[in-house]
Amino acid sequence: MAKAKVAVVGAGLIGLSTAVCISESIPSCSVTVIADKFTPNTTSDVAAGMLIPHIFPDTPVHQQKQWFRETFDYLSGICNSSQASEAGIHLVSGWQIFKTIPEKKTPFWSDVVLGFRSMTEKEMKKFPQHKFGQAFTTLKCDCPPYLLWLEKRLKENGGYVHVRKIEDLWELHSDYDIIVNCSGIGSRKLMRDREIHPIRGQVLKVHAPWIKHFIRDGDGLTYIYPGIHDVTLGGTRQKDNWNLSPDPSTSKGIFDRCCALEPSLHTAQDVKARVGLRPSRSSVRLQKEILVRGSEKLPVVNNYGHGSGGFSVHQGTAKEATRLIKECIAVLEMSRCKAKL
Ligand SMILES: Cc1cc2nc3c(=O)[nH]c(=O)nc-3n(C[C@H](O)[C@H](O)[C@H](O)COP(=O)(O)OP(=O)(O)OC[C@H]3O[C@@H](n4cnc5c(N)ncnc54)[C@H](O)[C@@H]3O)c2cc1C
Repeated sequence: MAKAKVAVVGAGLIGLSTAVCISESIPSCSVTVIADKFTPNTTSDVAAGMLIPHIFPDTPVHQQKQWFRETFDYLSGICNSSQASEAGIHLVSGWQIFKTIPEKKTPFWSDVVLGFRSMTEKEMKKFPQHKFGQAFTTLKCDCPPYLLWLEKRLKENGGYVHVRKIEDLWELHSDYDIIVNCSGIGSRKLMRDREIHPIRGQVLKVHAPWIKHFIRDGDGLTYIYPGIHDVTLGGTRQKDNWNLSPDPSTSKGIFDRCCALEPSLHTAQDVKARVGLRPSRSSVRLQKEILVRGSEKLPVVNNYGHGSGGFSVHQGTAKEATRLIKECIAVLEMSRCKAKL
């Protein structure tokens, strides 16, 4: 039987992690990642890469928890291996603080991260404007190194990468048997999906190597996330804003808010502003669809719309997409068998 040929459209976090998962779980197929942008020029490169789940309102919580747990366990394995530094994966401890006490003091993901607890009164003294806080240890990806590591891993498994813009998935029909669509915000045009929209995020990457603890305001707008090479200061959430140019007054606002939480940041050096468009929907679109053109059929597995939480769930969604591809391959093999009879 000829090898099934799979094309993954998208070379951000979701495309690369899905391609690696397919190449490892289904060694009998060939995998090619096709995208117009690769690291360091994707949305995924701008992200902070923290494993703190974002809530998808239309996805059942047990599903979100499973994706988060699978991702946390997968990255913990890398973090505990000799690959950790090259892959840019590390543990980070810190605080999530709230100006008003949240309805649920214990989020659904509290038993997935490490050592989750309420902050003590003594810890809260650092944040006089805040009334409540949670302390825990989680994982963080340094995004460009992690994307490079995924790409290297794909190539080691025999996968390929091509730089190319796709206007219509049917362009791939003659060369590939199955398409995996991981085009993020590009799916608005490529799949004519009107539900997916950008939530613009502007962040600052600064040199402040003394910052070891993360601090996140529970409103999700102000955060300080220390990485291996720099500290990410955030941020903004601007719905339906497509502007990729950093705005200087927004940068000043982010810097001032972060300094209010962590005054030592006033002496941070090498401040660089970056902007990314979060590919947002009310739920990740993770499903098969068969495109039909006359008598021709093109199986597509969609895996896009990870919004503000792609890093937190990517391995879980990659595993689910891989399961859907196995189903497509089974159908393909059956039709090839029938054609031979
Ligand atoms: C400021 C900011 C901070 C964030 N922080 C976090 C965080 O701390 N934790 C977390 O979990 N998540 C975070 N996120 C969210 C996370 O970055 C996204 O969920 C994730 O990067 C989405 O990955 P993706 O691969 O779907 O999209 P992208 O990285 O945008 O990749 C899409 C790919 O598809 C390709 N493509 C699109 N259309 C076409 C086409 N027509 N032809 C060919 N190629 C195409 C692109 O070139 C690209 O390669 C953050 C996001 C932002 C912006």
